[in-house]
Amino acid sequence: MKSDGYRERGLRNKLVKKLREKGIRDEAVLDAIGKVPRHVFFDDALLNHAYEDKAFPIGEGQTISQPFTVAFQTEKLEVKRGDKVLEIGTGSGYQAAVLLEMGATVYTIEYNRKLYDGTRAFLPNLGYNPFFLFGDGSKGYPAKAPYDKILVTAGAPVVPETLTDQLSEGGILVIPVGDRERQVMVRIRKVKGKLIKEEFDYFAFVPLLGEKGWKNA
Ligand code: SAH
Repeated sequence: MKSDGYRERGLRNKLVKKLREKGIRDEAVLDAIGKVPRHVFFDDALLNHAYEDKAFPIGEGQTISQPFTVAFQTEKLEVKRGDKVLEIGTGSGYQAAVLLEMGATVYTIEYNRKLYDGTRAFLPNLGYNPFFLFGDGSKGYPAKAPYDKILVTAGAPVVPETLTDQLSEGGILVIPVGDRERQVMVRIRKVKGKLIKEEFDYFAFVPLLGEKGWKNA
């Protein structure tokens, strides 16, 4: 396990400062990003890049999201201690670690077998223990529904109704929706059974695959 010392903590503090400058206001989000040792998620060759505000490859053609994107999505999700959260797209496990630092109970689902196996073996070593699920998360995970919050970390062609169905009353879904290149961040809130939709900035995510996602990679 890579060490987490003075230097790494200093770099994290700088990253938090940058995220604050870019408009992230939720102190609980900033606090969590200040705690998760992001460099441990990186290959040694990329170690120096771990605390830049950039996305990086994690193998299997997938990426660990840019810190600003993680912060933005997490802020829009309005995570409260004790929330039951479903994350779609486990990837490296970094986003799941941020949610766990915020006191959420996290279910995270991944469609790529190698990433699922790798992250399930790695993340608990850091003390992060979400429920790891394998399969097509574009349909959510009905067996454990409803969820207070659902976070999709891959770009979807539409908002799958199966996901809003799995929100509890007062629940929030955050999902990037658009074409393969560019997606608008969408937040949907379930209020008295009705869905209230808001749209935010544009981002570029890897495609959400599966039944309610893009049909081929
Ligand atoms: N949240 C991740 C970044 C995710 S990148 C992190 O913090 O590192 C998007 C991830 O979504 C990839 O790992 C990809 O394999 C996964 N994915 C794509 N389609 C999916 C689906 N239908 N169900 C679950 N995971 C999916």
